[in-house]
Amino acid sequence: MPPNQPTVLIVEDEHAQREILAYNLKAEGYRVINAADGDEALLYLDEQPPDVVVLDWMLPGVSGIEICRRIKMRNQSSNISVIMLSARCEESDRIHGLETGADDYVIKPYSVNELMVRVRNQLRRTRPAATGQRLEFDGIVLDGETHRVTRNGQELRLGPIEFRILSTFLEKPRRVWTREQLLDRVWGRNIYVDTRTVDVHIGRLRKALRKHGGKDPVRTVRGTGYALG
Ligand code: CA
Repeated sequence: MPPNQPTVLIVEDEHAQREILAYNLKAEGYRVINAADGDEALLYLDEQPPDVVVLDWMLPGVSGIEICRRIKMRNQSSNISVIMLSARCEESDRIHGLETGADDYVIKPYSVNELMVRVRNQLRRTRPAATGQRLEFDGIVLDGETHRVTRNGQELRLGPIEFRILSTFLEKPRRVWTREQLLDRVWGRNIYVDTRTVDVHIGRLRKALRKHGGKDPVRTVRGTGYALG
């Protein structure tokens, strides 16, 4: 599976619904994780944090509302977008859903196309490079659609791994990434790569970014990893 893909966790106890969602989300190019109940969802949230959770309200065991509350309560997961699915349509339930911190709310039965738009809207905010947007930081411009990279107007040539590292950095400038986090995001989860490989590609990225001069924009955070700016 190609890395750098946005990941969507589906939490839905109805098998057929889950299948339809998974099929459509994969067709959009996302990595999909399926959970059939709340406990399974909590496990995946810790092990493979997604970018978006499509979360059914009525679940066996831990309810959707409770899962949403837990996602939004914890620092390390509060930036994950949550789209609640619910058959309830009373206004009070809707408000209750939003009060728990859900980012969006969709009433069943819903149109799959509409849900895809809503997932994409969430990703535009949290994963701008992966959704083909133009990112800019300190004179460095990356076009997610054409894959062109420039620094102070001058074109740069980056290898595919360096491009993915840079887009990861540009999605959250100044955020410090550990080598393990970069491995997950850039190489993908199921591939064994030594963490020193990250250092090698960071070296190449630095070289590519300084091709036409300028300061080294990549910061080494001792004992932790790397950051842009
Ligand atoms: Ca359900």
